[in-house]
Amino acid sequence: AQFKMGISDIAQFEEWLADHKDIIGVSFVGRSNVGKSSMINALFGSKTARVSKTPGRTREINIFEFELNLNGKKSDLPPFYLIDLPGYGFAEVSKEMSKNWNELMGAFFAEASESMLLLNLQDARHPDQDVDRQFYDFIKGFARKTVLVFNKIDKLKTQKERAALEKLKPALSKDYKWIRQMYFASAESKKGVPQVEEAIVTHILE
Ligand code: GDP
Repeated sequence: AQFKMGISDIAQFEEWLADHKDIIGVSFVGRSNVGKSSMINALFGSKTARVSKTPGRTREINIFEFELNLNGKKSDLPPFYLIDLPGYGFAEVSKEMSKNWNELMGAFFAEASESMLLLNLQDARHPDQDVDRQFYDFIKGFARKTVLVFNKIDKLKTQKERAALEKLKPALSKDYKWIRQMYFASAESKKGVPQVEEAIVTHILE
């Protein structure tokens, strides 16, 4: 993995998107503190993203470029991009910050390659929150191919909690037709992480 850049400036981001029209890859988005950085690290290697930055401080888009190897050999495949989008749903954000978030995310969903898979993380203990719904409403018009990952399943202690989460799936599929798959996972115990990885790989090869 190679860290390319962190972008918080709308003009710079639009320029980058215009220069990277047909890229393939995956972009991560989720409520703040849902474990986005931890999941990126579990999937792509331990030092890819920073974990537990002070929530709400930065609204930066972090872009990583990967060279894809097949069986240890350099492949002819184009580079793969991992885009770490800024978290949503901070309790208190300044007007300035939420304006910046709206601009950056608006540009991303309007301009980014359709071959960028969206990976939305939600907290398995507190799924389908208002802010998650607000996010889906925000992107409704773009209907991006989305994989939904319920993270922190290691924190579910009872069968009842697990069953409630399972029951949520059909409702979400109905409301958001562009969600392709849903997974239960834990960035901490690594349970479910190989399945998420497989979903990403399948998407690349599609
Ligand atoms: P981000 O703000 O979404 O990038 O979240 P972080 O990756 O920084 O994680 C926020 C907090 O949740 C940290 O204290 C992590 O150690 C913790 N965390 C992340 N994933 C998991 C998980 O799967 N299980 C548990 N128990 N904790 C997790």
